[in-house]
Amino acid sequence: MYDSYNRPIHYLRISVTDRCNLRCTYCMPEEGVPPIKHEDILRYEEIVEVVKEAVVLGIDKVRITGGEPLVRKNIEDLIAMISVIPGIRDFGLTTNGILLEQYAEKLAAAGLHRINISLDTMDPGRYREITRGGDITSVFKGIAAAKKAGLMPIKINCVVQNSSSEKDAEAVRKFCLDEGLDARFIRQMDLEHGRFSVVEGGSGGYCDGCNRLRLTANGKIKPCLFDNLEFDIRKLGIRNALLEAINLKPRRGTGNSTNHFNNIGG
Ligand code: SAM
Ligand code: SF4
Repeated sequence: MYDSYNRPIHYLRISVTDRCNLRCTYCMPEEGVPPIKHEDILRYEEIVEVVKEAVVLGIDKVRITGGEPLVRKNIEDLIAMISVIPGIRDFGLTTNGILLEQYAEKLAAAGLHRINISLDTMDPGRYREITRGGDITSVFKGIAAAKKAGLMPIKINCVVQNSSSEKDAEAVRKFCLDEGLDARFIRQMDLEHGRFSVVEGGSGGYCDGCNRLRLTANGKIKPCLFDNLEFDIRKLGIRNALLEAINLKPRRGTGNSTNHFNNIGG
């Protein structure tokens, strides 16, 4: 389906949880965020209904994100339910990789096509600092497991301060070249204070070509990462929420004071 600026909308990003097993400095406060109430979190059956309706309206690309999607219980069950919906040609998941070693095979068996893994540095100490305690060796094991499971192509998401020529990013770029992984460099954004940027090596951030909708873990369809607009599927009904989000998708976002990366999933 086309929005009112004639952009074809065919990509749905789904945040399945606001929780995370890391506390990246640019994403979450050290103490975490007040969790969404359990009853407000969409059940897998509800998420699947949204995907089915979205496919009818033209969505053919779906990505699961978070928080950290692998901390949601039995995430492979959701993957299996979505992967059999006819019409999805690209089905991916974005993870910090910490739990990937134990999940890669299950995710591939459930029908996931490919995976994006976040990695901002190659240095174990810097990684611990950025993620407030994460163990980088788990991520490397997760990457190896994803390769073995055939979740290809693997993309590495690397957040940079200003440019991909920074030391940490250069090291990540070299690792990706050596390992046959695609690297994408994302300038650190600040949704509340209006710092929004494009993704080097990816398609995000170009408003004129924006093809996406987002579903938050508590059931809001968001037409723009960088805008407060949201449409509640439980209040409006799934189809209406999707249609309103498509029809009212802003030409470009100007600020988002209600969401953070941890609940909208980037
Ligand atoms: N937990 C998973 C992960 O880290 O990959 C998925 C959710 S995370 C919010 C999705 C992506 O958003 C990650 O690649 C992360 O690096 C990125 N991200 C988080 N906060 C950001 C910020 N302030 N600016 C730019 N990217 C950000
Ligand atoms: Fe968690 Fe991902 Fe946010 Fe880091 S970027 S705190 S891993 S949700």
